[in-house]
Amino acid sequence: MKKYLLSLDQGTTSSRAIVFDLAGNPVAKASREFTQYFPREGWVEHDAEEIFESQLATAREALETAGLSANDIAAIGITNQRETTVVWDKETGKPIAPAIVWQCRRTAEHCANLKARGLAPLIRQKTGLAPDPYFSATKIAWLLENTAGAAQKAREGKLLFGTIDTWLIWNLTAGRVHATDPSNASRTMLFNIHKMTWDEELLVLFGIPRCMLPEVRDTASLFGEADPSHLGAAIPIAGVAGDQQAALFGQSCFETGDVKNTYGTGGFLLMNTGDTPIPSKNGLLTTVGWRIAGKTTYVLEGSVFIAGAAIQWLRDGLGLLATARESEAIAASVPDSGGVYFLPAFVGLGTPHWEADVRGTICGITRGTTRAHLVRATLDAIALQTVDVLDAMQSDTGLKIPCLRVDGGAAANNLLVQLQSDYANLPIARPQSVESTAWGAAALAGLTVGLFDSTSTLAGLSAKAETFHPHMTAEARGGVRDGWKRAIESARTFAKK
Ligand code: ADP
Repeated sequence: MKKYLLSLDQGTTSSRAIVFDLAGNPVAKASREFTQYFPREGWVEHDAEEIFESQLATAREALETAGLSANDIAAIGITNQRETTVVWDKETGKPIAPAIVWQCRRTAEHCANLKARGLAPLIRQKTGLAPDPYFSATKIAWLLENTAGAAQKAREGKLLFGTIDTWLIWNLTAGRVHATDPSNASRTMLFNIHKMTWDEELLVLFGIPRCMLPEVRDTASLFGEADPSHLGAAIPIAGVAGDQQAALFGQSCFETGDVKNTYGTGGFLLMNTGDTPIPSKNGLLTTVGWRIAGKTTYVLEGSVFIAGAAIQWLRDGLGLLATARESEAIAASVPDSGGVYFLPAFVGLGTPHWEADVRGTICGITRGTTRAHLVRATLDAIALQTVDVLDAMQSDTGLKIPCLRVDGGAAANNLLVQLQSDYANLPIARPQSVESTAWGAAALAGLTVGLFDSTSTLAGLSAKAETFHPHMTAEARGGVRDGWKRAIESARTFAKK
């Protein structure tokens, strides 16, 4: 019996591979950074071939570190940076241009134009997304328009499009399979999340030939076999999900109303809304969590642009910290922020405000303010931005969130998690293994090949979480939240010219 799963976690700055045992424990990890290209202001590109090579190298290294061979691996799960767009030649397998990364703003004008033409409501209704350069559709259109001969070749069926999952599957299967899953498809702005198919009207709108698009298979299903030339033996690829949805699955958020937040550079909150796609009035996106055995689970998604990155700024921008980890002890050396509020809106405000012009603001400084107060105010800010998104989710769904599950680098900070519990007035569960994203992909693959009989089995595996409970009085919480609102107001006032 094969007792391990291999998770390929293809992120924005690094490719990682983790071998998991069947209890969900990581037994070996490998990671490789790859090149980021910034050819112009606001542009971000990756070399898709370098991505595949780095991913394959980590898979080999993780197997070697674990002392295992491909024959010990029951299945591969893939999770990936979402929306990043690759177009390649079907014959040669070579990308026609560098991959356009989700962060790239080169299609901002195209999106502004869509809004000016009044197309935002149609796009939102069909895809659950607001027109934005993040999503793949305008990136594909850009590649077809700006690469010599590409539009013609695409029409002739000679070019293929894929998000990173699709690109990895294609290469792993030596060009035999061109497929994606609905969690990735729903981030392209071309996928109708109600019909669960590519949307003909949107394809025409963006000038994208249908024949370029991958087949959409269930999130937990057989996508094909990794060619034996890659890892020494054939291994089924049996689970594929975008990174945030994989984290939601890895956190066992299987019930309607379950929410997770990943505290990395930014904060990504996803709420399971069951079999109903819920349109948002509060700036959340409606998207697909996963489709398993033909049944779709929808989610609401909110983003905090700057979370852990605010700690990085204290460290690298201000030199107030030697390490990110130190933030916990320094912030804990004072009982509170001493009335200081820090809004780290370095790149504008995300959910629920969506105000691109607001910038970072620090309010309430006195002669008595110390470094510790500023560090504390930064942890407060990470937690308070999250509370604003949780409020948006509760308001859109009418659901009472039972508990927030947390992961990501900054979730290691105990004080941050306690503040999160206090300000949200919710219990917070932090799993023992914070590899939720990679585990999510492995768990999906394990489900497909029958290593786990149901999501209840998976929920049992992730039950070993540490829980933080709120200790704050309603009055104290109200005071902090009121100060936070006023800090946002003052940042808004400053942004008005
Ligand atoms: P990403 O995947 O977005 O690169 P990670 O999940 O690796 O992010 O988390 C790294 C982020 O978390 C960094 O922005 C860092 O400043 C922050 N971080 C890491 N450890 C801590 C800590 N103990 N306390 C607060 N923030 C932290």
